[in-house]
Amino acid sequence: MADTLTGAFDLTGRNAVVTGANTGLGQAIAVALAEAGAGIVAVGRSGMDKTEERVRALGRPFRAVRADLSTLEPVERVVAEAQELGRIDVLVNNAGIIRRADALDFTEADWDAVMDVNLKSVFFLSQAVARRMLADERGGRIINIASLLSFQGGIRIPSYTASKSGLAGLTRLLACEWAGRGINVNAIAPGYFVTNNTAALRADPERNGQILGRIPAGRWGDPGDIGGAAVFLASPAAAYVHGIVLPVDGGWLAR
Ligand code: NAD
Repeated sequence: MADTLTGAFDLTGRNAVVTGANTGLGQAIAVALAEAGAGIVAVGRSGMDKTEERVRALGRPFRAVRADLSTLEPVERVVAEAQELGRIDVLVNNAGIIRRADALDFTEADWDAVMDVNLKSVFFLSQAVARRMLADERGGRIINIASLLSFQGGIRIPSYTASKSGLAGLTRLLACEWAGRGINVNAIAPGYFVTNNTAALRADPERNGQILGRIPAGRWGDPGDIGGAAVFLASPAAAYVHGIVLPVDGGWLAR
């Protein structure tokens, strides 16, 4: 543990790999970790210009790694390129997709696409990173971005609910295997945030009204609302926290 409360949240000298960091929650998490002192490796399919600009403005090291995490093909390369910035201390598995259709009409393609990005690649990237974290016995942090659908059923998103419920279980399993070896594995469950992921919901006045009416905080989450939880789980302050799924949801689950 760090000596002071402020120091307990300090990530100076650590490096964090964040997948899907070009936009939305991934970008907000990368910026928050950089604010706390971390160097950032931003992994994703598209340009990371805005994220790079914000991280560099904070004076932190930055590297972008292009990778499509819909297959396992890039996993070893992602780790190798990330290590060019330095040791990987934190991995944030944020990249995720959603497909919407009634369960009766849901296709195999939409099932596989979501499971591959949201669950399969998360597991194998975590495995690849954990092997390095364990090799030098300095441990690390893995933070999975789960969902309210890790706790609830939802409607019209069967593969998303299956993947995010599976991710909560995977978080607990990895915590059980690696807690004793110095790796803290935890998850964050964002509520309803204003990002591309929820554009369809916000564009539908009826769904938008239903969702807003259920959130005790009375507003959608802003991506800036997520960073504190990520900094906490990445930091010395969370040294004894393992296997939790931390909701950041404006009170949704409390209702
Ligand atoms: P977003 O659509 O804005 O961002 C998703 C990110 O994942 C993007 O950076 C995208 O490029 C990346 N990504 C998707 N497929 C990829 C692939 N094959 N390879 C590499 N990168 C890929 O949405 P967001 O809301 O910022 O989502 C981030 C995470 O938060 C997701 O896991 C999502 O399920 C989760 N989440 C979001 C909300 C919300 O309300 N927005 C709620 C709960 C959970």
